Amino acid sequence: LHSIRVDIAEMLKQQVELMRLQTHQQNILVVLNTGEGETTLEADQTRLEQVFLNLFINATEAMPEGGQLTISIDHIDESLRINFADTGNGIPASLADKILDPYFTTKDHGTGLGLALCDKIVRQHQGTLDFYSSANGTTFEVTLPFESQAN
Ligand code: ADP
Ligand code: MG
Repeated sequence: LHSIRVDIAEMLKQQVELMRLQTHQQNILVVLNTGEGETTLEADQTRLEQVFLNLFINATEAMPEGGQLTISIDHIDESLRINFADTGNGIPASLADKILDPYFTTKDHGTGLGLALCDKIVRQHQGTLDFYSSANGTTFEVTLPFESQAN
């Protein structure tokens, strides 16, 4: 990893702006809650951008008819938690075990590589990637420690 000081709130603000035209056209309201306090940690900026962009794009693909994507940053113990909560079509319980697997996709033109890459990058930062899904939508949760021996 090429680790530098990265402000996660700034990174997410930029990505929301980058995606603004597309989300607007798709009738998706994006809400960013950056919370209070420190949002800077040591990380590989380019790789973390890949993680968040993949989660962002998956969320938009889960809401073809529009909806809301709420991105929030919270402090949990010695970690930063970033949630991507969509109001999309959800993940059937029967598929939950498979979605992180490389090449698993339910999309006609999907690669199935997005989440496998996200999981790998988050682990490289000694973090975790989890998700919760219901008929009302899906939340992906990235937890990154403030102190890591990123390598
Ligand atoms: P791809 O997007 O190319 O299909 P991913 O690895 O990014 O590959 O995602 C794998 C699968 O996980 C998707 O095909 C989809 O079935 C499911 N998935 C991922 N994110 C979401 C989401 N936000 N809502 C519903 N399903 C999702
Ligand atoms: Mg994807």
